[in-house]
Amino acid sequence: MPIKILLIDDDKNYFMLVRRMLSRDASQFQIDWASDYEMAKTIALNSPYDVFLVDLQLGNRNGLDLVRELLASGIQSPFIMLTGYTEDELELPILETGASDYINKSELKSASLRRTIRYAMQRTQDLKALKASEENYRSLLEDASDGILITDPEAKIILINSSVSEMIGEPQEAIVGKALTDFIVPANKAHVPLNPATMPTDAPVLVEHLLRTANGNIPVEISAKLVSGGRLQCFIRDISKRKEEEEERERYIQQLTLLQQVDIELNHMLNIDYVLSLALDAAVRLSAANAGFIATIDNGSLKLAQAIGRYGDLLPGDSLPENALIDQVLQDQQPRIFLDLANEPNYHAIIPDTSALMLIPLVSYERVLGILNLETRKVNRFTPEVLDFLKLIASRVAVAIENAQLYQIAQEQLARLQELYLQVSDLEKLKTDMIRIAAHDLRNPVGVIVGYLELLEWSLGDKISEKQKSQLEAMMRAAQRMEKITRDILSLERIEKLHLEKTQRLTLNPLLLEVFDDYRTQAAEKNQTYTLEISETALTVQADSAQMREAMANMVNNAIKYTPEDGSVTVKLRDESGMAIFEVVDTGFGIPEDQQVGLFQPFYRASSEETVNIEGTGLGLHLVKNIITRHDGKMIFESVYGSGSTFGFKLPLL
Ligand code: ADP
Repeated sequence: MPIKILLIDDDKNYFMLVRRMLSRDASQFQIDWASDYEMAKTIALNSPYDVFLVDLQLGNRNGLDLVRELLASGIQSPFIMLTGYTEDELELPILETGASDYINKSELKSASLRRTIRYAMQRTQDLKALKASEENYRSLLEDASDGILITDPEAKIILINSSVSEMIGEPQEAIVGKALTDFIVPANKAHVPLNPATMPTDAPVLVEHLLRTANGNIPVEISAKLVSGGRLQCFIRDISKRKEEEEERERYIQQLTLLQQVDIELNHMLNIDYVLSLALDAAVRLSAANAGFIATIDNGSLKLAQAIGRYGDLLPGDSLPENALIDQVLQDQQPRIFLDLANEPNYHAIIPDTSALMLIPLVSYERVLGILNLETRKVNRFTPEVLDFLKLIASRVAVAIENAQLYQIAQEQLARLQELYLQVSDLEKLKTDMIRIAAHDLRNPVGVIVGYLELLEWSLGDKISEKQKSQLEAMMRAAQRMEKITRDILSLERIEKLHLEKTQRLTLNPLLLEVFDDYRTQAAEKNQTYTLEISETALTVQADSAQMREAMANMVNNAIKYTPEDGSVTVKLRDESGMAIFEVVDTGFGIPEDQQVGLFQPFYRASSEETVNIEGTGLGLHLVKNIITRHDGKMIFESVYGSGSTFGFKLPLL
């Protein structure tokens, strides 16, 4: 494609000359001619040309005016001015007009003309490309959602994109030219302001600063970097939303932590005053309230328990004055938030200037225990989210109050029980002491009575009547029973005083054989089946022989005593997992279940129809249990009323 040229010159000869100069390369250049201003305009605006050669002098018109006009109409091809002067001072006005070059007509040569034309075209193309790429960058700059700002080496703002002016809320002109520090300052006074003079040259830095805007400061994140010429290039991002979210999250974590602390404290604190003051403190802090109180229901009326803030003359323990809002909340058992108390005709302020109120009932197992009341002067401080958190606290407080109240009741009952126990123990001790003293003092006189009765019976012989004889025998039995009681009491005393230093390695088998034999006659008198099942291996324990004999004898004796005629009594000794097991199994009367509880208490006697006439002291089993416990053993006991009992013990084998 040849280069299309329009020559604008009122001198036809000149056109001919130029055409000739270019005609050597006719295939490369195609030249047209316009002889005056208006004609040139018409042609140029209607058909495209690659280059315009314009004479500076167009009759009485100026070639530069034409260039201006054509450029303004959107023509982008290069204009080369043809001048008739040699003065250099024309160069500047020509180039300022927008023309790309000029040729001195008097120095016109074919080769230089062609070169000038090519250069002009090339430059125009370069300019076009540059403009296009500049436009690309500019639109990138403008479209960027981040703010972009460039300063000169003195930290004066020389360029910003529209995001920056939107963020700041002022037009570009009001920002460009000002100092960077007029708009960007460190969030923290301890930090240094951004400054190209102090920036590291190698890497960009990322900082969080504040951007001063028409609506106050906003937090921004800035990636700043030194670029060529010592200028500072900043990418600015508005992080107020992120900060808000971070703060929100932080607040949430703080609330949770507080809640957790309250939980831990409330769970193990049973002092009600402490629980309430802790809970109120947490609630006031969580809600950022100005004042608050907890009132609890005591004997049906609401009394102030804890308060933060000035509630007039009201002191803890005082009844709260009538309050319709609180009554309503307690009745509904539903928390409520009153965001504008001016609209609440039923509200009577105790604390002046309160503008919002939260009332949360303290409910445990559907029982209303009190109320948490929080107030603030700041209208928008209380939110449903805060209320939700307080509900969590309130539910814990209610449970803690309940626990503390139960604990208080339990404490009071315990104290009463302890008092009773002391009274009973004193009485019990008095009783045992008296019995012991009596036993000591009775032993000799009873011995004397028994002795003389025996003597009397023997010396009177057949000289008395049958009736007198049976009376004497009854006296004898009574005296013997008294003797047994004193003996049992004294041996109990002996055992209680006894330390187990006297224990020895004791093989139970031979001892039991002796005990078993001792009671053979007694069992035979009642025609009982009396059996011994004894282990063949020697069962050795650490024990006091006399006491072991007493324990085993007592249980064998009881079995025979509390088993009717023709019944059976089986005495057993065996080993089982490292223990010696002794058992006396009878088919006797057994003990009613409701009487089994106190069986091992001193002087305790179970009584049923069948056993009411059997004599005893109620000391035997107490004695046995004492012995076995002192030997680190365990009692065995089982009884079914009407079918029989098993008494025995387990002792660790050596
Ligand atoms: P007691 O001198 O009355 O026999 P114990 O202390 O030996 O005193 O026994 C306490 C009570 O336990 C007895 O009064 C009796 O009611 C009951 N008892 C003891 N052993 C047996 C048994 N093998 N069968 C039924 N009741 C028994």
